Amino acid sequence: VLRIEGLRKSYGALDVLKGISLELHKGETLALIGPSGSGKSTCLRCINFLEHPTDGAIFLDEARIGQLPSRRHGWRWMSDRELAPQRAEIGMVFQGFYLWPHLNVRDNVALGPIRAGGMARAEAHALAQEMLDKVHLGHKADEFPERLSGGQQQRVAIARALAQRPRLILFDEPTSALDPELVGEVLGVIRELAEEGRSMILVTHEIRFARDVADRVIFMDQGHIVEQGSAAEVIDRPRVERTRSFLGKVG
Ligand code: ATP
Ligand code: MG
Repeated sequence: VLRIEGLRKSYGALDVLKGISLELHKGETLALIGPSGSGKSTCLRCINFLEHPTDGAIFLDEARIGQLPSRRHGWRWMSDRELAPQRAEIGMVFQGFYLWPHLNVRDNVALGPIRAGGMARAEAHALAQEMLDKVHLGHKADEFPERLSGGQQQRVAIARALAQRPRLILFDEPTSALDPELVGEVLGVIRELAEEGRSMILVTHEIRFARDVADRVIFMDQGHIVEQGSAAEVIDRPRVERTRSFLGKVG
């Protein structure tokens, strides 16, 4: 469903991504792990074009995204307006939940389909209810975000991503901002999505969860992919010393 070729990203003289190539097959869950500053978030942000890559190409179902052929330069990056429909194909869930505080939970989830998808209000509300049921929060549809726990808010954020009917979902440390006792309910929802056969990339420090749920694991360090393979290969039997020492530190 997703293919990345030679993705680079620099901020001035700082090379954050130094040529990342990877593939995500349909229905697969890919865990992206690595030390702080290795470029995991930057990688996700480039896939969704929250950042403009410095170089490289990204394909969604074999179609190049984010770039259009240009007579002068070969390819040029699309404008925000041109990107909007493509962004909706790729759901994103962040560490913070970023719900609209002045909208109730149902409207938070329905807003994307109405605004970006042009869906009628009633239909969007029905869809929102369906997605809230999926994250086990159907009974909270009328609440405002501030009345929910962090774990519940994050599940609303997941429902909101699902309501866009994305082809893949990117999670950037979805449980890092949560109190420990709330982590499980969010991981539980992510596990259900993985079992449903969603295509997902998950950046996480929850190594044991990654081992359990991910089909494949990529270990990144200093802007490179150091090692990749099945979860068992990378996490239980890492071949590269840098992976071993990272896993030794985190758990
Ligand atoms: P963490 O586990 O701490 O979230 P990460 O692997 O997600 O780390 P990134 O957030 O991708 O790492 O950051 C990689 C590097 O890029 C860091 O050195 C960071 O300081 C730098 N960086 C990220 N965003 C910017 C920016 N907008 N401008 C300049 N440097 C940036
Ligand atoms: Mg990060």
